[in-house]
Amino acid sequence: MQIPYEILGKVFVGLAFFAIFTIGIALLLGIYSFKKKRILFPNFVLSILYLFYGPAKWICRVFGIKDTLIDEILVEVRNAVMIDKFRKVEDERVIFLPQCLRSPKCKARCDPIIGYECKICGLCDIGNVCEAAEKYNFQVYIIPGGSFVKKIIKAHRPKSCIGVACYPELAESMQGCSPFMVVQGISLTRDGCFDTRVDVNEIISKMEECNV
Ligand code: SF4
Repeated sequence: MQIPYEILGKVFVGLAFFAIFTIGIALLLGIYSFKKKRILFPNFVLSILYLFYGPAKWICRVFGIKDTLIDEILVEVRNAVMIDKFRKVEDERVIFLPQCLRSPKCKARCDPIIGYECKICGLCDIGNVCEAAEKYNFQVYIIPGGSFVKKIIKAHRPKSCIGVACYPELAESMQGCSPFMVVQGISLTRDGCFDTRVDVNEIISKMEECNV
C-alpha cells in the first residue's frame, strides 16, 4: 500500500513545527538560565540545543539575535551543571589554553605531544596563568589545536579541566570532553586566531573554587 504524498507532507510539516517549538522552549529556558544565573532543566536544554544546533542558530538569525548566544548558553549551562563536581576534584587537574593567547614574540618551543612549553618570560598573560596554576595544583597545556587535547587526555587522563577558547569552540570541545572528565569553560575576552585575550582573574577564580 502506498502512503499518499499529502499525508507524508502533513507528517513532515507537523514534525518540523514540533522541532521548532521544542527548540524555542529550550532556547527560552537557556536564555532565562543564562541571564538569571538560575539553571532550569539543564539536561533538556543541553540535549535539544546540541541535537538541533544548526536550526537553533538559524532561528536566532531569523529573530535578529546573535547566533553565538546558543554557544554561550551551552557553555554556561554546562559550567553550572558541572561546577559542584569540579570543586571536588583534588588532583589531575589541567588547564587548556589556546596558542593564540601567546605574544607574537613568544619563543616557546612546541612539543609534539604537550604543545607549547611556556618559559614565563612575561610577554603575555600565559605566564601569569602558569604561575597561578602551580600554586593551585593545575597543569597548564598551551595547545596548537584540538588534536592535542585528545593526545593529552589519552596520555595523562586528567580528572578535570578548565578550557579557554571562543564560545563556539568551547561549546564543541566541552561536549567532546565531558564524558571523560569534569569540564569548565572560560571564554576569551578578545577572540580571533592571533593575539587573543582572556581575563586571567577569571581563570584564577575558577581554580580557587577547588580550594574553598
Ligand atoms: S609568557 Fe610563555 S607563552 Fe607568553 S610569550 Fe612568554 S614564553 Fe610565550
